[in-house]
Amino acid sequence: MEEKISGRTVSRRGLLAGTAGAAVIIAAGGAVKALAGEADPLRPPGMTSEEHFIGACIRCNRCRGACPRDIIVNCAFEDGIINVRTPRLSFRTKASQAFRRPEGKTQEDVAQEPYPAILAAGGIGFCDFCMLCAQNCPTGALSAFDPRTQWIGEAVIDPAYCIAFEKMGGCRKCVDYCPFGAVTLNESRYPVVDSSKCNGCGICENICPSSTYRTFKGPGPRGINIHVNKNGRPL
Ligand code: SF4
Ligand code: SF4
Ligand code: SF4
Repeated sequence: MEEKISGRTVSRRGLLAGTAGAAVIIAAGGAVKALAGEADPLRPPGMTSEEHFIGACIRCNRCRGACPRDIIVNCAFEDGIINVRTPRLSFRTKASQAFRRPEGKTQEDVAQEPYPAILAAGGIGFCDFCMLCAQNCPTGALSAFDPRTQWIGEAVIDPAYCIAFEKMGGCRKCVDYCPFGAVTLNESRYPVVDSSKCNGCGICENICPSSTYRTFKGPGPRGINIHVNKNGRPL
């Protein structure tokens, strides 16, 4: 027996086989999703795609050992079974020792040439794009990366945590510390991120005092957090 689907004629056997195939694919997709968990780990710079990264990373921890800014940690079970012991970035595990604007330079000066400035800066808890992680990766899971044209992720303001949303003008640290000039205050004195300038260096998340001032415990969300970039920009 034959049936018409979207103008095409298929046999009932073909229809059943197709339905079963689709069910297998959906089930397999569900299984992979379950393995990956809901978490979307923020990877070190130089990852070409999550699929390639998961296949190539041998969980050797060399990138973690090489990172001078101490921001690479291992994924745990809550990051998804498939991700366990793969590297992810964390800008919250170290006390804020973020980038300080070089003496004698204004924020505008630094924003003109952010890459050299951020490389020369002291401190830990943010990414300076030194690429020691990729250089020490033995499998090519991490490879070349140019922070002027590529992005680790993107800063997103969370009004539920940001102090400025509670007390107008209460805080502007992310504005003052961003070396790329990506955060400004709007007319209501709330911080706003220009995603075309942000490359996810993590300084703002590291320096954001929302958890300290409001005495949140643990490395929970901050007023500004780096998310995996899903806006179609190259990673
Ligand atoms: S580029 Fe440098 S600072 Fe950034 S994650 Fe890699 S090793 Fe760490
Ligand atoms: S540093 Fe944090 S609390 Fe302060 S304005 Fe920025 S996001 Fe809000
Ligand atoms: S992550 Fe934060 S500090 Fe870094 S470029 Fe983006 S907004 Fe600026």
